[in-house]
Amino acid sequence: MSLSALKRDDVWQNLEAEVFDLVVIGGGISGAGVARDAASRGMRVAVIEASDFASGTSSRSSKLVHGGIRYLENLEFGLVFEALRERRNLFDIAPHLVHPLRFMLPIYKGARVGMFKLGLGMWLYDALSMFETPRMHERLNATETLERAPILDGRDLNGSFVYSDAYMDDDRVVIETLRSAVFYGAQVINFAKVDEPHFEHGRLAAVTVTDQRQGRRGTVRGRHFVSTVGPWTDRVGQSLLKDWKPVMRPTKGVHLTFSRDRFPLQEAVVMISDDEKRIVFGIPRHEMVIVGTTDTDFQGDPATVRTDRADVDYLLGVINQYFPGVGIQETDIIASYSGVRPLVHDGSESESKTSREHTILSDPRNITFLMGGKYTTYRSMAEETVEIALRNFSGDESVKWSAPKTLEPLNPLATEFTLRRAKSQVDHWCQVYNLTAQEFLRLVERHGDEAFVILDQYLHRLPAGVRSAQDGGRLWALEAFHSIHETACFNLIDFFLRRTPLMLSEPDHGRRFLDPVEEIFALELGWSEAERKNQRQGLINYVDHEMAWSNA
Ligand SMILES: Cc1cc2nc3c(=O)[nH]c(=O)nc-3n(C[C@H](O)[C@H](O)[C@H](O)COP(=O)(O)OP(=O)(O)OC[C@H]3O[C@@H](n4cnc5c(N)ncnc54)[C@H](O)[C@@H]3O)c2cc1C
Repeated sequence: MSLSALKRDDVWQNLEAEVFDLVVIGGGISGAGVARDAASRGMRVAVIEASDFASGTSSRSSKLVHGGIRYLENLEFGLVFEALRERRNLFDIAPHLVHPLRFMLPIYKGARVGMFKLGLGMWLYDALSMFETPRMHERLNATETLERAPILDGRDLNGSFVYSDAYMDDDRVVIETLRSAVFYGAQVINFAKVDEPHFEHGRLAAVTVTDQRQGRRGTVRGRHFVSTVGPWTDRVGQSLLKDWKPVMRPTKGVHLTFSRDRFPLQEAVVMISDDEKRIVFGIPRHEMVIVGTTDTDFQGDPATVRTDRADVDYLLGVINQYFPGVGIQETDIIASYSGVRPLVHDGSESESKTSREHTILSDPRNITFLMGGKYTTYRSMAEETVEIALRNFSGDESVKWSAPKTLEPLNPLATEFTLRRAKSQVDHWCQVYNLTAQEFLRLVERHGDEAFVILDQYLHRLPAGVRSAQDGGRLWALEAFHSIHETACFNLIDFFLRRTPLMLSEPDHGRRFLDPVEEIFALELGWSEAERKNQRQGLINYVDHEMAWSNA
């Protein structure tokens, strides 16, 4: 079984034919996590996502797997402990998607929290990870700090702490989690929106689903339902339950991306804005530097969120406060992206103080809502949600379904061992497949041993002109095949934004790879000339919408 764009009609038919044990509404990380957990216990699971997988908050995060050092200040020790445990688990189950990173926290004279108090926090952070951190924290004086980060502002610098956390490909963690759910038998569909409930004896028994691609409507029946629609929770709650009372306090978060050449950070830097209110990260990754985030109240449809000029000015201000010598300007920004945090209202006076803890709400009308929480803790949140959902089943079934297998690798072909082995034989494999070392390493780092499956299945299918392109076009064309056949990717925008980092990391947003990639999509999905034009326009429209701040 695979998550293939070409199997969509089969999945649609299966969705209409069966009565599922669990119907999961929403295909972000929460829905993917619940689906994998439940399917790996042996439950029959359906996942229905209104748009592309991970197109909501789950591709718009800071892309950090972290305990959240700042939650220590709010005394949220339980949250930090759980997140650090899950960080360790994610290193194990997704080594191709989650990578250790050092974070430097510089301290300047007059800082609200001084070196001593922060030092205690650092010890606590390492201790809460049960000392299973990639590396213990370090305390540096001002000179040592500037040796490590020469572009940092040295004026009034007292020193810094350096500690470990991790960065990830948030969108691809969702996809790999869903692929694993499919492996365990789940039926998973994107571009299908749940829009109407059907009750039997006062309990939710089915939902009407509208296919956003073909317009058809169908009914999916379930023995229990789980809503994992993040910032859409109040909207979906209202559409399913007439007396739904709003529970969300969504906030907007914006990030900017830069090239590593222009903003040469070696380690992530934790910056605190002048008003001492917010933390802004500068995060170097393989392919770019991400800076963010803002945190402001948001109202409206989460699908329409976008970056404003004020968000950009704020983030540029913080960068230039910490790195005045680098002279970062608006023209250095490659891309911006914005997302909506699905926070649950807890009565806090400010946005940034609202808790990142998750809430599970069990409605007696046969539906469980999971909302809030952090990406990092998705696996354990999903487990807790399924345990609660199981109360709606018989004792025998709860016993039968008591053992999730979510500590297994997300992708059995991408483990620490397979990654290491493939990387130790680069020359050999480059000869076998006639690839450059850069191409081979990129494929292996992204897919582990699945790189060989991709090469064996698709290399010979590349059109002649694309096969000889060594500028990256060949690599992204192979990725296009894989995205269509293994990740149900239907659109260029989904490919450039969520299956690959091209839109966020390439100065031309990946436009130079458009021809080879489009050729593969047209070939596999049978696109007409008109559809090809539509798809290109979709890319342009996205960039225009998200980057509209640059004309304001
Ligand atoms: C700016 C920002 C930075 C963050 N940084 C981090 C970080 O670095 N680390 C971390 O751990 N966490 C981070 N988070 C938090 C984390 O990203 C979110 O908690 C998480 O992604 C929420 O996932 P979700 O699946 O609940 O929601 P979403 O990803 O929003 O998924 C909900 C899905 O439901 C779908 N949907 C809506 N209505 C329907 C319907 N009617 N039918 C079917 N489907 C529907 C939507 O299309 C969407 O795909 C950050 C959040 C933000 C906003």
